[in-house]
Amino acid sequence: EAKRNGRNTYRHYAAGMQLYSLDRMSLETDLRLAIERNEFELYYQPQIALDSGQVVGKEALIRWHHPQRGLLTPIHFIEIAEETGLIVAIGQWVISEACRQHQAWLQEGFQPMRISVNISAMQFYQSDFCDMVEHILKETRINPAYLEFELTESMFMQDADAVVRTLHQLSRLGIKLAIDDFGTGYSNLSYLRKFPIDRLKVDQSFIKGIEREPINVEIVKTIVALARSMSLELVAEGVETDVELHWAESSGCTFVQGYRFSQPLPAEKFTRWVREYKYQANQHSLADI
Ligand code: C2E
Ligand code: MG
Ligand code: MG
Ligand code: MG
Repeated sequence: EAKRNGRNTYRHYAAGMQLYSLDRMSLETDLRLAIERNEFELYYQPQIALDSGQVVGKEALIRWHHPQRGLLTPIHFIEIAEETGLIVAIGQWVISEACRQHQAWLQEGFQPMRISVNISAMQFYQSDFCDMVEHILKETRINPAYLEFELTESMFMQDADAVVRTLHQLSRLGIKLAIDDFGTGYSNLSYLRKFPIDRLKVDQSFIKGIEREPINVEIVKTIVALARSMSLELVAEGVETDVELHWAESSGCTFVQGYRFSQPLPAEKFTRWVREYKYQANQHSLADI
């Protein structure tokens, strides 16, 4: 009986695996076509400066309008894109689309605000990454001071010389550099001294439910102290509630981002959101809204 059960379990498992790989293969095939079919879209999530209460930037986050599966968030395809190398082409599309949209907003009469773009490790390690970026800067004529790349700590644990070279090249181009999901990597922090980093984004796992997790309070306070001592700006990610907002504010974070203000929105909705937010901001202080 036990043996039969075991075999059944195995059979289920094997069928599951097969299903998984078929599913994955079809996603992979679709992903290869997605750029030329124009199925990607960037959503934008506002970043608010806590001192002024103003919207001062936004993060571009990719979405995929899959013809059958509907709207997909990165959790469904970024890993496949990385494993297949497709992330290089997709990432290039992301940078150029973000720059194009930034310029379009300026043409519409918006004040310039920073636009942050996520860069994946494989993309960052391409030997022609900086040339590609420079080309996009020239083509879109974006002021690079408004462009920020979000990198991850893991990138700094690889081939140090190439990393240093790329970082300095990007910095020379005038692009801002941020460390995303800060505090989740296991690197020693000396890279912060060596590299031209402008901002840290405190990972949302430290912000979420902060009132129930006293240890997170200590971790964020440590990151705040670190950032201050190195003159780095600090963004609190994943701020969902008033409690988390007040806490981020009182602990010394300079910027916040999260559902408390807005989910990531398509460009047009983002535009509307910013207009309405400005209107609100005239009537209430940040602590009231
Ligand atoms: P990330 O860069 O850390 O982005 C923040 C993620 O948290 C986004 O998920 C965002 O929608 C979500 N988020 C923002 N505020 C809140 C909040 O208050 N509560 C909660 N629970 N979540 C919040 P998203 O858009 O699904 O992206 C997930 C990850 O995928 C990103 O994490 C980033 O690592 C990656 N990603 C997104 N767009 C791109 C891209 O264009 N290129 C690359 N290479 N990676 C990307
Ligand atoms: Mg990010
Ligand atoms: Mg993050
Ligand atoms: Mg992340």
